[in-house]
Amino acid sequence: MSEVGPTRGAALALRGLVKRYGTVAALDEVHLEVKPAELLTILGPSGSGKTTLLKAIAGFEPLDTGSVVLAGADITDLAPARRDIGMVFQNYALFPHMTVAANVAFPLKMRRIPRDAIARRVRSALELVALDGFGQRYPSQLSGGQQQRVALARAIVFEPKLLLLDEPFGALDRKLRETMQLELKRLQTRLGLTTIFITHDQEEALFISDRIAVMRDGGILQIGAPRDLYHSPGDAFIADFVGESSQWLGRIVALEGGIARVLVGSDITLVACADDRCMIADEVLLVLRPEIPQPANPNAPLENCHRGTVREVLYLGGSVKYRISLAPGVELLLRWPARREGAVSAVGDSLNIGWSARDMHLLRAPHRAGGP
Ligand code: ADP
Ligand code: MG
Repeated sequence: MSEVGPTRGAALALRGLVKRYGTVAALDEVHLEVKPAELLTILGPSGSGKTTLLKAIAGFEPLDTGSVVLAGADITDLAPARRDIGMVFQNYALFPHMTVAANVAFPLKMRRIPRDAIARRVRSALELVALDGFGQRYPSQLSGGQQQRVALARAIVFEPKLLLLDEPFGALDRKLRETMQLELKRLQTRLGLTTIFITHDQEEALFISDRIAVMRDGGILQIGAPRDLYHSPGDAFIADFVGESSQWLGRIVALEGGIARVLVGSDITLVACADDRCMIADEVLLVLRPEIPQPANPNAPLENCHRGTVREVLYLGGSVKYRISLAPGVELLLRWPARREGAVSAVGDSLNIGWSARDMHLLRAPHRAGGP
């Protein structure tokens, strides 16, 4: 093949990966399936095992136990160079003494591709990352974003079965990062590349992923579409880590017809949908996304209706964030479009807001002893 074209990305299966460093389990029984042509993001705080996971997949880090299966073949014991996996790291890692073209040609030379085919494929890969004409420059003559594009071209030029990216845009400023995210997503979709993207930035993860796997302490806590993780977080950690929210610890004081009344603070009762495991007197965590509460409409009252006082206003351009006090010690985060009808603006103003029971999540309180 003379040009870099669709690669019909391969499926990846990780089965029970364990990697220990001394007493630290950097990977603690990781199971994961990535579909062909899927962009899966691994999201997790620093030290959760993300880089170790990528190194294990790429073959740079021998596993204690577990297996890596790519395109149906067990590659657990294969040398990194023979795995057909493209990688991009946060620190550009281009060869500084080689031109851009030579950098991109490198994996093809390693594979002993004929010279004229190399030239065509390098040109094609540089076109894909919008760097045609930059072949004769050296990395030091490029901006950070351009260097990461070269790294990307080098990672895809040999049509890998899998693309691994470890915080590739972490060193770029916000605007450039967003441009690069969009470009990567387009390129990945166009080429049908199976891709694992690592980040600790939840906005980035929500933005580009088909699915997100949230990692903590070497394990995957929850995996799902960005929408599912945002709207149905499985536990308090995920609710906190993925997106902003108001969170209140409270106690269930009444249960009826799948609806729980939860006492928060000393005198605010909030209403949320309960699951079968809920019992009276349970301690629970309520989670409410900031865009959910609406200006209260007396003609169509919602289950939760409260009067609050604006404590803080944060103007964000297109939207405004408010910190609202509902009662002493009970605060709510609100995020509304800047031009919304009925929006308040001044600290000290009060307003009536409402939201329905089903739009608030009821989760097990963290660190609760016992429980299923
Ligand atoms: P992340 O990429 O999510 O920040 P890492 O995979 O780099 O996390 O690290 C996971 C855990 O494994 C951390 O506790 C880290 O200190 C430890 N770790 C990673 N690499 C090594 C190593 N080479 N030697 C000892 N401990 C390591
Ligand atoms: Mg890392």
